Amino acid sequence: RPGVTFENVSFGYDKDRQILHGLSFEAPAGSTVALVGPSGAGKSTIGRLLFRFYDPWEGRICVDGQDIALVTQHSLRQQIGIVPQDTVLFNDTVRYNIAYGRDDPSDDQVRQAAEDASILPFIQELPKGFDTEVGERGLKLSGGEKQRVAIARTLLKDPPILLLDEATSALDSRTEQDIMSTLKRVSADRTTIAIAHRLSTIADADLINVMESGRIVEQGSHVELLRRD
Ligand code: ADP
Ligand code: ADP
Repeated sequence: RPGVTFENVSFGYDKDRQILHGLSFEAPAGSTVALVGPSGAGKSTIGRLLFRFYDPWEGRICVDGQDIALVTQHSLRQQIGIVPQDTVLFNDTVRYNIAYGRDDPSDDQVRQAAEDASILPFIQELPKGFDTEVGERGLKLSGGEKQRVAIARTLLKDPPILLLDEATSALDSRTEQDIMSTLKRVSADRTTIAIAHRLSTIADADLINVMESGRIVEQGSHVELLRRD
């Protein structure tokens, strides 16, 4: 299992506006590490650098001890599964949405991923409950169920690294708790970076990094951070 480290990473999208300022943190192999902070702090930017949508100005990002600038983009991205905040689904079956873009998965593999994400009973349903052939019918998936489809799609890739980018932010708090417990289960043996703007969302993380304006300003467990406040 690969760990992830950011070492003194500086970055901006435009050269006259720096976003990350010499940022360092570590997600040891198999751990769950959280990044919390207000909107605009640079959390999603960290995810984009890890996935190599952009390269840092300075510093290094390592996966499994290796600078990601030195590995092929394909092998890097193969190792990372992203669960985004909002999931846009095709109006085709849940099964189709889970398998989309994956390399001809077997029916058993798709069913296993669906089961792990607790969406298996919906596998033949249409996300929008609408079939253009026969007119309206069936179930319309809720926001939480859609996130379960996204989780299943990510699990089908079986990535050793999970990036949860505000994966529950768009949900009501009850649904958020349900999805969090699923995410906790599926991330158990993976290196996980969980991005959130609320501390309560990632209370179970092994380590929480609090971000502000492109810097990590505090680190600790949930209990430690609450005690300091
Ligand atoms: P967070 O995820 O913590 O809300 P982001 O990483 O999305 O923060 O954004 C950090 C800063 O980078 C913000 O000021 C935002 O406006 C800016 N930013 C984000 N994406 C881009 C982009 N593609 N081009 C230019 N600036 C961007
Ligand atoms: P695959 O590469 O096999 O499709 P993923 O589903 O994990 O596996 O692919 C990465 C995903 O990252 C894309 O499907 C896309 O939805 C998502 N993505 C694209 N741009 C961004 C972004 N700026 N931030 C976070 N996630 C993104």
